Amino acid sequence: MNSPRTMFFAFAVFIAILWSNPSLADITPNPSEARSRVPEIYKWDASIIFKDESAYNSAIKSIEAGLAKISQRKNKLGTDTLLKSTLDEYVFLKKTMSKIGIYSELRLAEDKNVEKNQNIHRRAQKLANNFNSGTSFIKQALLNMKDAELDAMLSGGILNEYRGYIEALRRRKDRVLGEDAERILGLVGDNLFASTWPTSDNEMIFQAIMRDINFPKIKDEEGKEIQLSVQAYSKYRASKDRNVRKAAVETFLETLRKYQNIFAASLAAEVNRDVMFAKARNYDRAVEAYLDIDDIDTAVMDNLINTIHKNLKPLHRYIALRRKLLGIDKVHLYDLYTPIIKSVDTDVPYSEGGEMVVKSLASLGEEYTSVVARAVTPGSGWIDVYPNEGKESGAFSTSTWGIHPFIKLNYQNQMDDVSTLTHELGHTMHSYLNMNAQPFVDFGYSTFTAEIASTFNEKLLNDYLLEKYSENDDIRLYILGEMLESIRTTIYRQTLFAEFERKIHEFSEQGTPITAELLNKTYIGLVRKYYGPELAIGADDAVEWAFIPHFYYKYYVYTYATGLSSGIALAEMVQKEGDKARDRYFEMLRAPSNEPPLEILKKAGLDLTKPHVIESATNLMAKTITEIEKIIRKKGKN
Ligand SMILES: [Zn+2]
Repeated sequence: MNSPRTMFFAFAVFIAILWSNPSLADITPNPSEARSRVPEIYKWDASIIFKDESAYNSAIKSIEAGLAKISQRKNKLGTDTLLKSTLDEYVFLKKTMSKIGIYSELRLAEDKNVEKNQNIHRRAQKLANNFNSGTSFIKQALLNMKDAELDAMLSGGILNEYRGYIEALRRRKDRVLGEDAERILGLVGDNLFASTWPTSDNEMIFQAIMRDINFPKIKDEEGKEIQLSVQAYSKYRASKDRNVRKAAVETFLETLRKYQNIFAASLAAEVNRDVMFAKARNYDRAVEAYLDIDDIDTAVMDNLINTIHKNLKPLHRYIALRRKLLGIDKVHLYDLYTPIIKSVDTDVPYSEGGEMVVKSLASLGEEYTSVVARAVTPGSGWIDVYPNEGKESGAFSTSTWGIHPFIKLNYQNQMDDVSTLTHELGHTMHSYLNMNAQPFVDFGYSTFTAEIASTFNEKLLNDYLLEKYSENDDIRLYILGEMLESIRTTIYRQTLFAEFERKIHEFSEQGTPITAELLNKTYIGLVRKYYGPELAIGADDAVEWAFIPHFYYKYYVYTYATGLSSGIALAEMVQKEGDKARDRYFEMLRAPSNEPPLEILKKAGLDLTKPHVIESATNLMAKTITEIEKIIRKKGKN
């Protein structure tokens, strides 16, 4: 067998050869290429999870057998040794279960048209459902156990490795009701304690209305008639032709308006349901109940909204900039999506993109960048680089404990693709550092901290590119423009959504009937407040809330805003303070999943109940606008 040292050496030589010969390392991306024709070195290596399909099949069989065995432990968890051996068995099965999950996810993403991949995925999903229901008795037993009984068991020391897991679970113990009440809550679809969220009936009604609506036709840039739809709406609202984007937005919203009462009834039913579940579990407010799932204090939401209110000026300046660059006298809602900055026509082959990413992360040190360099190297098996026929669009990073993470890309040599690469590498490194520091039961991170490492990396890449292209105003403008849009849509817009969400739950809590008129009035009031007097409001703009699916996902959108703000704040700290801040950041990435997220962030120097994190983002927005104005003035003079 090769020693690790020789293997590492061989690997290093391999990397050196590939990097020194970029022509070898790049191909021309082609989305209609058959997967079999894409060179293996640009694909991830799922065989590291299961050697072949027969290994996958026997893993499935082992879970089925394991579930039958573990079910015999029901009602037999009364001592610390019994509880420990059950948890051991559970963790053993769960490790295999998560491998099955990842494997099936990778295979389906590779080519969703292949029946074999569909089957692999279907089987995994079915098994996951059986696994969750077949092992839920452990969680239930822990929640039902008396505090004194559990304390006595924990004090023995036998359960030490599960302490974090048990403590995190019992945190909301007081919210668990009696057996009958729990059974009924389960029957009516309670989601405050569910391990997965099924689509609610109200969301299904929302989707059904969207399907049933017959949108009228509009004319495109060439005067050709096109059928308006949700997809066409998002495409044509960004049109450079003002008449086209105006028609797209106005026709879309005018049509939604005709159905506003059904939309309102379905959203009201959803909101009333949230409030009911919160009350059933003795929470004062729905926002408190849903934030408590991730152990987040409502002070975080209050702080986000209040800080944004105090820092709306950059958004107002943004509207003024948009007006100026588009050369129009008033910005309407339909003018918000057309690009204000010309995109750059650069060709960035994958090898070059990977190199840029590694260099941009230099301030994180050798230990971090060497892993990133390894991941991006063709042949590493970590990244599925290029598009192919049947491959799912978009990008993701996914991981399971004990195996290196995987990244799906659809790299097409654009500057944007480099951003996506570093974003996904952020997730990947978060998982990688975390799994190397934590045992399986404490591995992972919550939604609240999930988008920090990714946006941190993006910020470093932007700064690196601004420096690298300091002489190229077009590229600089493009990068600054992208940054601007990302802060506007991820921080300001999502905070507006979060505030709307909070307000409509308050209406329900106060017993105010939620009608279309009330929703329109509330929504447009927020739009006016956020965007300021520079934005002109059209006749049907108020009904925009109606087609936003996120209002059915419950206090989720605000994490976009806090995530990006935290990523920016941390990147600036590391840039300014160096190694000390970097080590604090790493400590955060390595923290156990069962620790409260706000405590984890404090390790890195972030307090999400105070304005400073959010202000890093709003200040960056202001600085970016100033920079864009400067470049444009300069260009005007030339
Ligand atoms: Zn992400």
